[in-house]
Amino acid sequence: MQTYHIAVLKGDGIGPEIVEQAMKALKQAGQKFGFAIEFQEALLGGCAIDQTGVPLPQETVDICKAADSTLLGAVGGPKWDSQPGSNRPEKGLLGIRSALGLFANLRPAIIFPELRSASPLKEEIIGDNLNVLIVRELTGGIYFGERGRCTENGVEAAYDTEKYSVPEIERIVRVAFQMAMKRSKKLCSVDKANVLESSRLWRATVERLSNDYPEVAVSHLYVDNCAMQLVRNPKQFDVIVTSNMFGDILSDEASMISGSIGMLASASLSAGKSGLYEPIHGSAPDIAGTGKANPLATILSGAMMLRYSLDQPEAADAVETAVSAALKKGRTCDIAAQNLPVLNCTEMGDLVCSLI
Ligand code: NAD
Repeated sequence: MQTYHIAVLKGDGIGPEIVEQAMKALKQAGQKFGFAIEFQEALLGGCAIDQTGVPLPQETVDICKAADSTLLGAVGGPKWDSQPGSNRPEKGLLGIRSALGLFANLRPAIIFPELRSASPLKEEIIGDNLNVLIVRELTGGIYFGERGRCTENGVEAAYDTEKYSVPEIERIVRVAFQMAMKRSKKLCSVDKANVLESSRLWRATVERLSNDYPEVAVSHLYVDNCAMQLVRNPKQFDVIVTSNMFGDILSDEASMISGSIGMLASASLSAGKSGLYEPIHGSAPDIAGTGKANPLATILSGAMMLRYSLDQPEAADAVETAVSAALKKGRTCDIAAQNLPVLNCTEMGDLVCSLI
């Protein structure tokens, strides 16, 4: 029987509670589809600072690098807010992303039909099954470019630089084309090519690569227009690919459309097959230990792992279908519905497992 080795970084706050549910769901999917999963836990974030003095121990990096894939909860909390910037839990997060060479961030914005009323958009705008995938470049662009402060003619100034090389653009755009091929073969590339030179190179590279994916219908949008279109007519999108900063902003906007932070999964991929899978929300210290945490974003991150890193698309479908079915039977309190029982984190995890 195929056995997958998964590194597990539960992290802080609600991290351990929600990751526990995702581990159960992955095990259950394995039982149903004939593969085994072995988990190895490692420390990241505040819990790592408490036990080792640093947010990202080398042992954690080694465990994640040796694993087939990594599942992460969330890190941080008020307990570590007084730590110096270089030793905060978030440093561990940035550190593990860079140690694993994760250059592609995949953020699906999905609205399950059962949760349509949670969206701030009108139901006729979101339609029946909104499912947009934003592919964001994660290790280049303005967040990593040359920056500095200077004085010009006696006036203080600061600058940041957006720079992308062709290989950097090619590798993220190829990921997006491959995702589009697995979905509805529609890709929208977002840039600001009317103003930025780096965007003109981005657009030309997308155009050139589109020759390798003749089945995919490619369109281009300026980022300001895309921000408008996401709330005006989000159904027009399937896969969106964009740079680091534009993706940062657009993926948060797209997340808001779904209306419930406890439902949104994400994946970060490297050149190899492994990757890091995590919910988009934080460690929610305000509800940690109360059983109120919604584990579905983490369970859905596990489904993404099954699809993108473990090549188990049927198991991924089964987990996603089980989540959808669970929403008809019970809800955690963040997405409570009048006519359905309120479940705690463990009960929701058990319900999903029973439906896989
Ligand atoms: P948050 O996402 O943790 O919480 C925002 C709000 O959403 C809170 O009211 C919280 O209770 C609620 N919430 C979040 N996840 C939920 C879930 N699964 N179920 C039910 N409710 C949920 O954001 P924050 O409060 O700004 O940050 C808290 C801590 O998390 C901070 O230390 C921050 O640095 C850290 N953080 C970590 C990550 C990460 O690990 N990737 C991301 C964002 C924030």
